[in-house]
This record gives sequence, structure tokens and C-alpha cells, in this order.
Amino acid sequence: MKVGDLVKISNDTCDGGHGCGCWFCYNSSNGLGMVLKCLKSDGGHVRGTGGYWSIMFDVGEWRLYGSEIEVISMGRRHDDTR
Ligand SMILES: [Zn+2]
Repeated sequence: MKVGDLVKISNDTCDGGHGCGCWFCYNSSNGLGMVLKCLKSDGGHVRGTGGYWSIMFDVGEWRLYGSEIEVISMGRRHDDTR
């Protein structure tokens, strides 16, 4: 996972059912967002589900651990030529 990736909250984070009181349901978010930045990598190496991330959702910025979200579309990298 990296900055620019399109992500959605995992089913463990929000079950979307009745009585789910999570931030996303409270704000009527569709749970889709884009990774803004990595706040903390996991042991110096960002694994697929590791780290702590700042993500811009349709209803605003929220911070989540990598295990709470899943990547649905890899963002394009513009700096791969280094
Ligand atoms: Zn929810």
C-alpha cells in the first residue's frame, strides 16, 4: 500500500449493518478513500496490511491501520525513476 492508492474499509472495520456506530456509518460515508500519507510504517517496511495511514474519504480525512482497510486500486507512481 502506498500514497495514491484507492482503498476501502474492510468488513471487519465496518459491518455496514444495523446499529453499526462507526465513524463511516455515522457520516454516511461509502467507505472509499485515497491514501494521503503514511504516518507510521510497520517496522521500517510498509507491508500490504501494515502501517498507520492518513486517508481522505468522501466525508473527510480519517486515520486507520493498514489492517483495517484494503486496497482496491493501485495508484500510479510518478517517482519510480529514482
Ligand atoms: Zn459502520
